[in-house]
Amino acid sequence: MGPVDRPLEIGVVGAGTAGSACAILLARAGHRVTVLECVADPRPIGAGITLQPTGQLALARLGLREAVEARGARIDRLTCRRRNGKILVDLPYADIDPRLYGLGIHRGVLFETLFAAARAAGATIQCGVKIERSELAGSTRTLIDEGGGRHGPFDLVIAADGSVSELHSEAGRVRTKPYPWGALWVVVDDPGFAPERTLHQSVDGARHLLGFLPTGMAPGRDAPIVSMFWSLRVDRLEAWRAAGLAVWRDEVLRLDPRAEPILDTLHDLEPVLFSRYRDVAMSPWHGDRIVFLGDAAHAMSPQLGQGANLALVDAVTLADSIAASPDDVPRALVAYTEARRRHLGFYQFATRALTPLFQSDSRMLGWMRDLVFPHSRWFGYFRRRMVRCMVGIDRGLLRAPLPLPLALPAADLQTIRQ
Ligand SMILES: Cc1cc2nc3c(=O)[nH]c(=O)nc-3n(C[C@H](O)[C@H](O)[C@H](O)COP(=O)(O)OP(=O)(O)OC[C@H]3O[C@@H](n4cnc5c(N)ncnc54)[C@H](O)[C@@H]3O)c2cc1C
Repeated sequence: MGPVDRPLEIGVVGAGTAGSACAILLARAGHRVTVLECVADPRPIGAGITLQPTGQLALARLGLREAVEARGARIDRLTCRRRNGKILVDLPYADIDPRLYGLGIHRGVLFETLFAAARAAGATIQCGVKIERSELAGSTRTLIDEGGGRHGPFDLVIAADGSVSELHSEAGRVRTKPYPWGALWVVVDDPGFAPERTLHQSVDGARHLLGFLPTGMAPGRDAPIVSMFWSLRVDRLEAWRAAGLAVWRDEVLRLDPRAEPILDTLHDLEPVLFSRYRDVAMSPWHGDRIVFLGDAAHAMSPQLGQGANLALVDAVTLADSIAASPDDVPRALVAYTEARRRHLGFYQFATRALTPLFQSDSRMLGWMRDLVFPHSRWFGYFRRRMVRCMVGIDRGLLRAPLPLPLALPAADLQTIRQ
């Protein structure tokens, strides 16, 4: 994108995945972008996430795919087994296109790559500024921080401040709710998962879920790492902590003995972190001179591994919508919401529907899942639908998948099988 004739003043709240990605594209397009981030000294922390083909293509649009991929671990399939060792699902990316694969990456790698690129693109980044609200005056918005400091006025405010956005009050209709379940995470040196190129999951009913994600290399380190996650209901966290490492270790090993070398590295529960998630639903994703991106717009359970990927696609779509109507921000925002409606709607629906099958106390749901899901191995159509959902391009049963015009030539995309 070349420089625009009349640059917009754009305020971005939050320097996470969505905020930094859209700051890069909009600053490169010639707009004057100011990013306001509440953390005073943002650092590359976190655990493993899966970068799906959609997220990879969005990064390619940003010119950052190689940099991230060099520090990632290639994932060719997701395999989920039951406690008795029987396979519940086996989903190879190659089922819909041999060129597709996932990338296990450390969240910090994505953060530091995007953050550095946003600075390099010319965005002004102010850290330690916690935005609390915004004021609309005519065709501009001003952001107000917790100390009463005013930032702007901006032609457009991009709210990318995560699932507990301070700016939700500016949205039309918004519903936000914490999930009763979360996940324990631990990241350690990889004892040998990476060569299998597999995201392994093990389940026992809907109550127990264990996973191993090869995570590439952490920021500043050159040794391969793996992330292990364990599902836990939020209100059982204190009991888990009180029971201690030995009890947890036995429980995990009963489900999957491959966890042993990972658990052997732990002397206490200190390095094990707990993540909670929220569900955010909003319609539309924009208001007057404001648009919500990433978790601020559509936070969901990480069951389908899509959050960061959706945030990256949001950023690319918003930059394209603004490029198509550079002199008409309200029109660009309407176009943005319309462009994202089907894709985001599908993943919000699918995540809400699938999460209780993997994270709940329901015996019935676990039993039904164990009865139905293994058949996907024998019915190609069913399996490909599940892979398509994992890849990140699904838009619903009767709709064509999301085309991936983000970077691949259109001709290549036609070959992705329905
Ligand atoms: C356990 C777990 C596993 C996950 N696994 C995956 C996965 O495998 N694949 C995947 O794609 N996604 C995964 N996700 C989801 C993914 O991490 C998020 O969807 C993604 O990070 C969202 O990016 P974001 O930019 O919208 O929000 P965030 O990354 O949360 O960034 C928000 C930013 O805004 C800043 N901020 C917040 N409030 C303010 C304020 N008032 N003023 C200024 N700044 C503010 C924050 O400090 C932060 O920097 C997972 C999430 C969890 C919890």
